[in-house]
Amino acid sequence: ENYHAVLTENRKLFNELQELKGNIRVFCRVRPFLPGQGAPNTVVEYVGEDGELVVTNPTRPGKDGLRQFKFNKVYSPTATQAEVFSDIRPLVRSVLDGYNVCIFAYGQTGSGKTYTMSGPDGSSEEDWGVNYRALNDLFKISQSRKGNISYEVGVQMVEIYNEQVLDLLSDDNSQKKLGILSTTQQNGLAVPDASMYPVTSTSDVITLMDIGLQNRAVGSTALNERSSRSHSIVTVHVRGKDLKTGSVLYGNLHLVDLAGSERVDRSEVTGDRLREAQHINKSLSSLGDVIFSLASKSSHVPYRNSKLTQLLQTSLGGRAKTLMFVQLNPDATSYSESMSTLKFAERVSGVELGAAKTSK
Ligand code: ADP
Repeated sequence: ENYHAVLTENRKLFNELQELKGNIRVFCRVRPFLPGQGAPNTVVEYVGEDGELVVTNPTRPGKDGLRQFKFNKVYSPTATQAEVFSDIRPLVRSVLDGYNVCIFAYGQTGSGKTYTMSGPDGSSEEDWGVNYRALNDLFKISQSRKGNISYEVGVQMVEIYNEQVLDLLSDDNSQKKLGILSTTQQNGLAVPDASMYPVTSTSDVITLMDIGLQNRAVGSTALNERSSRSHSIVTVHVRGKDLKTGSVLYGNLHLVDLAGSERVDRSEVTGDRLREAQHINKSLSSLGDVIFSLASKSSHVPYRNSKLTQLLQTSLGGRAKTLMFVQLNPDATSYSESMSTLKFAERVSGVELGAAKTSK
Protein backbone atom coordinates (compact mmCIF):
# COMPACT_ATOMS: atom_id res chain seq x y z
CA GLU A 1 0.00 0.00 0.00
CA ASN A 2 1.14 3.54 -0.86
CA TYR A 3 1.26 4.70 2.72
CA HIS A 4 3.87 2.07 3.48
CA ALA A 5 5.88 3.02 0.42
CA VAL A 6 6.08 6.59 1.69
CA LEU A 7 7.06 5.40 5.15
CA THR A 8 9.83 3.24 3.70
CA GLU A 9 11.09 6.10 1.59
CA ASN A 10 11.05 8.37 4.62
CA ARG A 11 13.06 5.83 6.59
CA LYS A 12 15.75 5.84 3.92
CA LEU A 13 15.83 9.62 3.90
CA PHE A 14 16.12 9.65 7.66
CA ASN A 15 19.09 7.29 7.64
CA GLU A 16 20.91 9.50 5.17
CA LEU A 17 20.19 12.59 7.24
CA GLN A 18 21.43 10.90 10.42
CA GLU A 19 24.94 11.46 9.12
CA LEU A 20 24.52 15.22 9.23
CA LYS A 21 23.29 15.41 12.78
CA GLY A 22 26.63 14.90 14.45
CA ASN A 23 26.36 15.41 18.17
CA ILE A 24 22.70 16.34 18.41
CA ARG A 25 20.19 13.74 19.49
CA VAL A 26 16.44 14.05 19.97
CA PHE A 27 14.48 11.61 22.12
CA CYS A 28 10.71 11.97 22.26
CA ARG A 29 8.87 10.87 25.41
CA VAL A 30 5.11 10.50 25.48
CA ARG A 31 3.72 10.77 28.97
CA PRO A 32 0.87 8.52 30.11
CA PHE A 33 -2.67 9.73 30.72
CA LEU A 34 -3.02 10.72 34.33
CA PRO A 35 -5.46 8.96 36.63
CA GLY A 36 -8.88 10.60 36.59
CA GLN A 37 -8.53 12.17 33.15
CA GLY A 38 -11.75 10.63 31.97
CA ALA A 39 -11.98 8.76 28.71
CA PRO A 40 -8.73 9.77 27.10
CA ASN A 41 -8.49 10.44 23.41
CA THR A 42 -4.92 10.06 22.23
CA VAL A 43 -3.15 11.71 19.31
CA VAL A 44 -0.42 9.08 19.31
CA GLU A 45 -1.13 6.58 16.56
CA TYR A 46 2.11 4.64 16.47
CA VAL A 47 5.42 4.47 18.35
CA GLY A 48 8.14 2.50 16.58
CA GLU A 49 11.19 0.87 18.13
CA ASP A 50 13.36 2.73 15.63
CA GLY A 51 12.29 6.20 16.74
CA GLU A 52 9.27 6.52 14.50
CA LEU A 53 6.22 8.41 15.72
CA VAL A 54 2.92 8.82 13.92
CA VAL A 55 0.39 11.28 15.31
CA THR A 56 -3.18 11.82 14.24
CA ASN A 57 -5.11 15.05 13.97
CA PRO A 58 -8.30 14.58 16.04
CA THR A 59 -10.26 16.85 13.73
CA ARG A 60 -9.18 14.95 10.61
CA PRO A 61 -9.66 11.27 11.25
CA GLY A 62 -8.26 8.92 8.61
CA LYS A 63 -5.04 8.87 6.69
CA ASP A 64 -5.07 12.55 5.76
CA GLY A 65 -4.74 13.52 9.39
CA LEU A 66 -1.63 11.42 9.99
CA ARG A 67 1.81 12.92 10.35
CA GLN A 68 5.01 11.00 10.66
CA PHE A 69 8.09 11.97 12.65
CA LYS A 70 11.41 10.32 13.16
CA PHE A 71 13.69 10.87 16.13
CA ASN A 72 16.64 9.02 17.57
CA LYS A 73 14.25 7.39 19.98
CA VAL A 74 10.60 7.56 20.97
CA TYR A 75 9.39 6.37 24.35
CA SER A 76 5.89 5.08 24.78
CA PRO A 77 3.99 6.07 27.95
CA THR A 78 5.03 2.86 29.70
CA ALA A 79 8.76 3.63 29.61
CA THR A 80 10.25 3.73 33.10
CA GLN A 81 12.70 6.25 34.52
CA ALA A 82 15.32 3.48 34.70
CA GLU A 83 14.87 2.62 31.00
CA VAL A 84 15.21 6.22 29.98
CA PHE A 85 18.34 6.70 32.04
CA SER A 86 19.98 3.52 30.79
CA ASP A 87 19.78 4.95 27.26
CA ILE A 88 21.54 8.16 28.21
CA ARG A 89 24.02 6.71 30.68
CA PRO A 90 26.89 6.55 28.12
CA LEU A 91 26.33 10.22 27.29
CA VAL A 92 26.36 11.16 30.97
CA ARG A 93 29.50 9.12 31.61
CA SER A 94 31.36 10.75 28.74
CA VAL A 95 31.62 13.83 30.99
CA LEU A 96 34.17 11.90 33.06
CA ASP A 97 36.28 11.57 29.91
CA GLY A 98 36.29 15.32 29.40
CA TYR A 99 33.24 15.95 27.26
CA ASN A 100 30.72 18.75 27.67
CA VAL A 101 27.15 17.53 27.52
CA CYS A 102 23.79 19.35 27.57
CA ILE A 103 20.55 17.52 28.21
CA PHE A 104 17.32 19.47 27.74
CA ALA A 105 13.66 18.76 28.42
CA TYR A 106 11.38 20.67 26.04
CA GLY A 107 7.59 20.70 25.86
CA GLN A 108 4.43 22.43 26.97
CA THR A 109 3.61 22.72 30.68
CA GLY A 110 2.26 19.42 31.96
CA SER A 111 4.00 17.29 29.32
CA GLY A 112 6.41 15.65 31.77
CA LYS A 113 9.59 17.75 31.59
CA THR A 114 10.06 17.87 35.34
CA TYR A 115 9.08 14.22 35.64
CA THR A 116 11.84 13.27 33.21
CA MET A 117 14.49 15.53 34.71
CA SER A 118 13.69 15.38 38.43
CA GLY A 119 10.92 12.83 38.91
CA PRO A 120 7.57 13.17 40.65
CA ASP A 121 7.36 15.07 43.95
CA GLY A 122 8.87 13.26 46.92
CA SER A 123 10.11 10.53 44.64
CA SER A 124 11.63 7.27 45.75
CA GLU A 125 14.84 6.07 44.14
CA GLU A 126 12.85 4.11 41.57
CA ASP A 127 11.09 7.30 40.40
CA TRP A 128 14.23 9.39 40.28
CA GLY A 129 14.61 11.41 37.13
CA VAL A 130 17.70 12.12 35.08
CA ASN A 131 19.19 14.74 37.43
CA TYR A 132 19.42 12.46 40.45
CA ARG A 133 20.52 9.45 38.45
CA ALA A 134 23.18 11.37 36.52
CA LEU A 135 24.70 12.92 39.64
CA ASN A 136 24.62 9.65 41.49
CA ASP A 137 26.16 7.79 38.58
CA LEU A 138 28.93 10.33 38.08
CA PHE A 139 30.08 10.38 41.65
CA LYS A 140 29.91 6.57 41.91
CA ILE A 141 32.00 6.01 38.80
CA SER A 142 34.42 8.72 39.80
CA GLN A 143 34.96 6.83 43.05
CA SER A 144 35.42 3.51 41.29
CA ARG A 145 38.23 5.04 39.20
CA LYS A 146 39.90 6.47 42.29
CA GLY A 147 43.08 4.42 41.86
CA ASN A 148 43.78 5.89 38.42
CA ILE A 149 42.08 9.25 38.23
CA SER A 150 41.33 11.60 41.07
CA TYR A 151 38.02 13.34 40.37
CA GLU A 152 36.29 16.30 41.90
CA VAL A 153 32.57 16.56 41.22
CA GLY A 154 30.83 19.87 41.97
CA VAL A 155 27.29 21.05 41.37
CA GLN A 156 25.67 24.40 40.63
CA MET A 157 21.99 25.08 40.15
CA VAL A 158 20.62 28.22 38.59
CA GLU A 159 17.34 29.43 37.26
CA ILE A 160 16.78 31.82 34.37
CA TYR A 161 13.66 33.87 34.87
CA ASN A 162 12.86 36.90 32.71
CA GLU A 163 16.43 36.82 31.35
CA GLN A 164 17.90 36.99 34.85
CA VAL A 165 20.15 34.28 36.25
CA LEU A 166 19.43 33.32 39.87
CA ASP A 167 21.42 31.07 42.18
CA LEU A 168 19.30 28.17 43.46
CA LEU A 169 21.92 26.88 45.89
CA SER A 170 22.66 30.10 47.76
CA ASP A 171 22.24 29.48 51.46
CA ASP A 172 20.78 32.89 52.28
CA ASN A 173 17.74 32.33 50.07
CA SER A 174 18.22 35.79 48.65
CA GLN A 175 18.11 34.68 45.02
CA LYS A 176 20.90 37.07 44.14
CA LYS A 177 21.27 38.05 40.53
CA LEU A 178 24.34 36.70 38.84
CA GLY A 179 26.56 37.70 35.99
CA ILE A 180 27.53 35.08 33.48
CA LEU A 181 30.76 33.67 32.27
CA SER A 182 32.92 35.35 29.71
CA THR A 183 32.99 33.04 26.75
CA THR A 184 36.76 32.65 26.82
CA GLN A 185 36.66 30.81 30.11
CA GLN A 186 36.41 27.37 28.54
CA ASN A 187 36.77 25.10 31.48
CA GLY A 188 35.76 27.29 34.35
CA LEU A 189 32.41 27.82 35.95
CA ALA A 190 29.41 28.47 33.79
CA VAL A 191 28.24 31.02 36.33
CA PRO A 192 31.23 32.32 38.27
CA ASP A 193 29.24 33.68 41.21
CA ALA A 194 26.83 30.79 41.69
CA SER A 195 27.33 28.58 44.73
CA MET A 196 29.03 25.31 43.99
CA TYR A 197 28.85 22.26 46.20
CA PRO A 198 30.85 19.05 46.06
CA VAL A 199 29.08 15.75 45.64
CA THR A 200 30.60 12.83 47.50
CA SER A 201 27.61 10.69 48.39
CA THR A 202 24.05 9.85 47.41
CA SER A 203 22.79 11.87 50.34
CA ASP A 204 24.65 14.93 48.98
CA VAL A 205 22.76 14.45 45.74
CA ILE A 206 19.40 14.38 47.52
CA THR A 207 20.23 17.34 49.77
CA LEU A 208 21.32 19.52 46.86
CA MET A 209 18.24 18.70 44.80
CA ASP A 210 16.02 19.50 47.78
CA ILE A 211 17.66 22.88 48.36
CA GLY A 212 17.35 23.71 44.67
CA LEU A 213 13.69 22.83 44.55
CA GLN A 214 12.95 24.81 47.71
CA ASN A 215 14.75 27.88 46.41
CA ARG A 216 12.91 27.61 43.14
CA ALA A 217 9.66 28.01 45.01
CA VAL A 218 10.74 31.18 46.86
CA GLY A 219 8.85 34.27 45.82
CA SER A 220 6.22 32.43 43.86
CA THR A 221 2.79 31.53 45.13
CA ALA A 222 2.75 28.19 43.39
CA LEU A 223 5.88 26.25 42.52
CA ASN A 224 4.29 24.94 39.38
CA GLU A 225 3.44 28.37 38.10
CA ARG A 226 6.90 29.73 38.55
CA SER A 227 8.77 26.65 37.42
CA SER A 228 6.81 26.49 34.21
CA ARG A 229 7.99 29.99 33.33
CA SER A 230 11.66 29.67 34.14
CA HIS A 231 14.48 27.47 32.93
CA SER A 232 16.30 25.52 35.61
CA ILE A 233 19.84 24.37 35.00
CA VAL A 234 21.76 21.86 37.08
CA THR A 235 25.42 21.93 36.11
CA VAL A 236 27.83 19.20 37.14
CA HIS A 237 31.48 20.18 36.92
CA VAL A 238 34.02 17.41 36.78
CA ARG A 239 37.76 17.81 37.15
CA GLY A 240 39.83 14.67 36.79
CA LYS A 241 43.55 14.33 37.39
CA ASP A 242 45.30 11.32 35.91
CA LEU A 243 47.47 10.03 38.75
CA LYS A 244 50.08 8.52 36.43
CA THR A 245 50.60 11.28 33.91
CA GLY A 246 49.46 14.23 36.00
CA SER A 247 47.29 15.52 33.15
CA VAL A 248 44.01 17.18 34.06
CA LEU A 249 40.69 17.01 32.23
CA TYR A 250 37.47 18.97 32.66
CA GLY A 251 33.93 18.02 31.73
CA ASN A 252 30.57 19.71 32.24
CA LEU A 253 27.09 18.29 32.29
CA HIS A 254 24.16 20.71 32.01
CA LEU A 255 20.73 19.35 32.84
CA VAL A 256 18.11 21.80 31.70
CA ASP A 257 14.40 21.77 32.54
CA LEU A 258 13.10 24.39 30.11
CA ALA A 259 10.18 26.75 30.61
CA GLY A 260 6.87 25.58 29.15
CA SER A 261 6.81 26.03 25.38
CA GLU A 262 3.06 26.75 25.10
CA ARG A 263 1.98 29.72 23.07
CA VAL A 264 0.48 32.45 25.16
CA ASP A 265 -2.30 34.36 23.52
CA ARG A 266 -1.03 37.93 23.47
CA SER A 267 -4.49 39.37 23.40
CA GLU A 268 -5.28 37.71 26.70
CA VAL A 269 -2.29 38.54 28.86
CA THR A 270 -0.75 41.81 29.96
CA GLY A 271 1.89 43.06 32.39
CA ASP A 272 4.03 40.40 34.10
CA ARG A 273 2.52 37.50 32.22
CA LEU A 274 3.15 39.12 28.89
CA ARG A 275 6.73 39.94 29.82
CA GLU A 276 7.35 36.36 30.97
CA ALA A 277 5.84 34.99 27.79
CA GLN A 278 8.01 37.23 25.63
CA HIS A 279 11.18 36.19 27.48
CA ILE A 280 10.29 32.52 27.19
CA ASN A 281 9.52 32.78 23.49
CA LYS A 282 12.75 34.59 22.85
CA SER A 283 14.94 32.16 24.75
CA LEU A 284 13.33 29.01 23.36
CA SER A 285 13.53 30.28 19.82
CA SER A 286 17.15 31.33 20.38
CA LEU A 287 17.90 27.83 21.63
CA GLY A 288 16.23 26.38 18.55
CA ASP A 289 18.24 28.71 16.30
CA VAL A 290 21.52 27.73 17.96
CA ILE A 291 20.90 24.01 17.76
CA PHE A 292 19.61 24.32 14.22
CA SER A 293 22.73 26.25 13.19
CA LEU A 294 24.88 23.56 14.76
CA ALA A 295 22.91 20.74 13.14
CA SER A 296 23.13 22.38 9.75
CA LYS A 297 26.83 23.19 10.27
CA SER A 298 26.23 26.88 9.72
CA SER A 299 29.29 29.13 10.04
CA HIS A 300 27.47 31.57 12.33
CA VAL A 301 25.91 30.28 15.53
CA PRO A 302 23.75 32.96 17.22
CA TYR A 303 24.63 32.33 20.89
CA ARG A 304 24.26 35.97 21.98
CA ASN A 305 20.49 36.23 21.58
CA SER A 306 19.50 34.88 25.01
CA LYS A 307 20.92 34.29 28.48
CA LEU A 308 20.22 30.58 28.10
CA THR A 309 22.35 30.15 24.97
CA GLN A 310 25.04 32.50 26.31
CA LEU A 311 25.29 30.50 29.48
CA LEU A 312 25.51 27.19 27.65
CA GLN A 313 27.70 28.45 24.82
CA THR A 314 30.81 26.47 25.70
CA SER A 315 28.73 23.33 26.02
CA LEU A 316 26.84 23.63 22.75
CA GLY A 317 28.73 22.94 19.56
CA GLY A 318 32.31 21.86 18.94
CA ARG A 319 32.98 18.53 20.62
CA ALA A 320 30.05 19.02 22.96
CA LYS A 321 27.09 16.66 22.83
CA THR A 322 23.45 17.70 23.01
CA LEU A 323 20.41 15.63 23.81
CA MET A 324 16.89 16.97 23.81
CA PHE A 325 13.98 15.20 25.44
CA VAL A 326 10.91 16.31 23.61
CA GLN A 327 7.94 15.77 25.90
CA LEU A 328 4.45 15.08 24.61
CA ASN A 329 1.08 15.21 26.29
CA PRO A 330 -0.88 12.55 24.35
CA ASP A 331 -4.29 14.10 24.92
CA ALA A 332 -6.25 15.11 21.83
CA THR A 333 -6.99 18.51 23.36
CA SER A 334 -3.24 19.21 23.26
CA TYR A 335 -2.94 18.40 19.58
CA SER A 336 -1.94 21.82 18.31
CA GLU A 337 0.63 22.36 21.11
CA SER A 338 1.98 18.88 20.47
CA MET A 339 2.34 19.65 16.78
CA SER A 340 4.32 22.81 17.47
CA THR A 341 6.50 20.87 19.91
CA LEU A 342 7.13 18.21 17.27
CA LYS A 343 7.89 20.79 14.61
CA PHE A 344 10.44 22.41 16.89
CA ALA A 345 11.96 18.99 17.55
CA GLU A 346 12.05 18.22 13.86
CA ARG A 347 13.85 21.44 13.18
CA VAL A 348 16.54 20.94 15.82
CA SER A 349 17.07 17.33 14.80
CA GLY A 350 17.52 18.41 11.18
CA VAL A 351 15.11 15.73 10.00
CA GLU A 352 11.85 16.82 8.42
CA LEU A 353 9.70 14.11 6.95
CA GLY A 354 6.44 15.96 6.37
CA ALA A 355 3.01 14.51 6.02
CA ALA A 356 2.60 10.77 5.71
CA LYS A 357 0.51 11.14 2.56
CA THR A 358 -1.00 8.26 0.64
CA SER A 359 -1.06 10.00 -2.73
CA LYS A 360 2.07 10.21 -4.84
P1 ADP B 1 6.03 19.72 33.11
O1 ADP B 1 7.30 19.74 33.88
O2 ADP B 1 6.27 19.55 31.63
O3 ADP B 1 5.12 20.86 33.39
P2 ADP B 1 5.33 17.50 34.82
O4 ADP B 1 6.63 16.78 34.83
O5 ADP B 1 5.00 18.32 36.00
O6 ADP B 1 5.20 18.40 33.50
O7 ADP B 1 4.21 16.42 34.51
C1 ADP B 1 2.83 16.71 34.61
C2 ADP B 1 2.14 15.60 35.38
O8 ADP B 1 2.27 14.36 34.69
C3 ADP B 1 2.74 15.36 36.75
O9 ADP B 1 1.70 15.02 37.62
C4 ADP B 1 3.68 14.19 36.53
O10 ADP B 1 3.91 13.45 37.71
C5 ADP B 1 2.91 13.37 35.49
N1 ADP B 1 3.82 12.62 34.60
C6 ADP B 1 4.60 13.14 33.65
N2 ADP B 1 5.30 12.19 33.01
C7 ADP B 1 4.96 11.02 33.58
C8 ADP B 1 5.34 9.65 33.37
N3 ADP B 1 6.24 9.29 32.43
N4 ADP B 1 4.76 8.72 34.16
C9 ADP B 1 3.85 9.06 35.10
N5 ADP B 1 3.46 10.31 35.35
C10 ADP B 1 3.99 11.29 34.60
